[in-house]
Amino acid sequence: MKTIALENFNLASAIYQHALNSPQTTAIASQGQTLSYGEFAQRAAGLASCLMDSPDWPRREGQVPRVGILASRGVDACVALLGACWAGATYVPIALKQPQDRMLSLLEQCDLSAIITDDEGLKLLTGRLLTACPPLVLHVGRPPLTAWENPEQPLIQLTELSPVTLSAPAMVTASDTAYIIFTSGTTGIPKGVMICAGAARHYVTMICQQLGLQASDRALETCELSFDFSVHNMFSTWEAGAALHILPATTVMNAVKFVKYSELTVWNSVPSLAGMLRQLKVLSPGSLATLRLTVFGGEPLPASTVTAWQSAAPNSLIFNLYGPTEATVFCLYQTVSNPLALTPGRDAISIGMPLPGSDAQVVDDNDQPVARNTPGELLIAGAQLAEGYLGAPVLTTARFPLLEGRRWYRTGDLALCDELGRFHCLGRIDNQVKVMGYRVELEEIDAHLRMVCGSDLVGSVAWPVADGMARGIVSFVHAESIDALGTLEALKSRLPPYMLPSRIIALDKLPLSANGKIDRKALRQLLDTQAP
Ligand code: AMP
Repeated sequence: MKTIALENFNLASAIYQHALNSPQTTAIASQGQTLSYGEFAQRAAGLASCLMDSPDWPRREGQVPRVGILASRGVDACVALLGACWAGATYVPIALKQPQDRMLSLLEQCDLSAIITDDEGLKLLTGRLLTACPPLVLHVGRPPLTAWENPEQPLIQLTELSPVTLSAPAMVTASDTAYIIFTSGTTGIPKGVMICAGAARHYVTMICQQLGLQASDRALETCELSFDFSVHNMFSTWEAGAALHILPATTVMNAVKFVKYSELTVWNSVPSLAGMLRQLKVLSPGSLATLRLTVFGGEPLPASTVTAWQSAAPNSLIFNLYGPTEATVFCLYQTVSNPLALTPGRDAISIGMPLPGSDAQVVDDNDQPVARNTPGELLIAGAQLAEGYLGAPVLTTARFPLLEGRRWYRTGDLALCDELGRFHCLGRIDNQVKVMGYRVELEEIDAHLRMVCGSDLVGSVAWPVADGMARGIVSFVHAESIDALGTLEALKSRLPPYMLPSRIIALDKLPLSANGKIDRKALRQLLDTQAP
């Protein structure tokens, strides 16, 4: 009988191959710690076998266990994540910088089989959060100094496990969920975007080829695991057999020195980071001369940032990548060359054309394709579309409609396609904004503000906006006066730091639009006219 070898869609497969073929090559480096592909695979496989040997590990046919990763970016977080993948699980990053209630709501939604944590994450596992954890809790890193609080739920220490013989990552099919990433939700509850392994593997292999990444590359990681840009940074680097250099969250402003010192060849970040470095005046000509490739993505790329970058990194090709989490990291791209391909009437770079395997079209209110140069909503189709939102079938159907037999994702971005077939982003149709690279639904802030201050009429806006990028949030409440500090304190226990308003203003009359909704444009204008 002939047996057909099934393709393994496990994200860890490429790392396993590099561990077999070039075990000594560096896979990750961070804060003086370095792991070769051999060591990286060994540690991840050890973690996986610990998970899979546990009596608490689910063994039901067809059920893919979910593993929460509560860790800040670093070597330990990568080992945790790869270990979960190696075991064939869906990994679910849990952002550390968010209030306990928000984490609890995430844990409730996910039904995790295990949590893997690093030293930072371990500090948060107390009280209510600890009781909401699954029975399997693993810790990567040095053994903790303080005693573990919960005697009924032993903490498994990865460093104390005996080494295992390296075996291949568990079999994963294309339709198994590779990861779930949570984004801001308009109802006040974050929504989990489920990405299947087929989409994730397609993205990683395609983008590695498209960018021409090589084993000799040394690539920069600037993102936390809870932002899907990290999927690009980690897995495209490891697909190529290259080295990932993780910029510690505490030294982000020293990124230029970091690149120089580590002789990095590939830069990956949101444009906001480059914008901040420009403002700090550290992007001097030639200061990033080792870079051969720059990947910007996740928010509009201002022309001013590009001009500064071209002078600081004269040897680097620049890519502007566009995409929502719901279409697996990035699905459109534009190489940046002079003269710059600018979006009409804006200072931002075009988002270009679909990457191989993805499709894009601009439609009107009736989902009919519009003519070239006509604005409408941008829809995405193809190999990278998410399975949908975790536990939210109605929202999934609404956001992923079937149009003439094909599944699309409604991005909520206002866009146009020019006569050259290049797409341009013109802003949002809804109230989603990007604040320093973070995706924020203004309605999510409003929902919590309403509960905290007891007023039904509230409205938040992204403000101020410089170079097309929001620097913060200002909230308005319909009231004669407000205890702004007290309200902010109450919001802190509900929202992550990047969603907190920098100002909360009481207005005795909030401007309303013709259909009775809060007029956010008028609120922004109010701030513009009041600004010194
Ligand atoms: P996220 O899911 O966090 O990646 O956010 C997706 C949204 O970010 C998109 O729908 C766009 O509004 C915005 N975005 C992402 N990449 C770009 C880009 N290169 N240019 C303009 N906007 C972008």
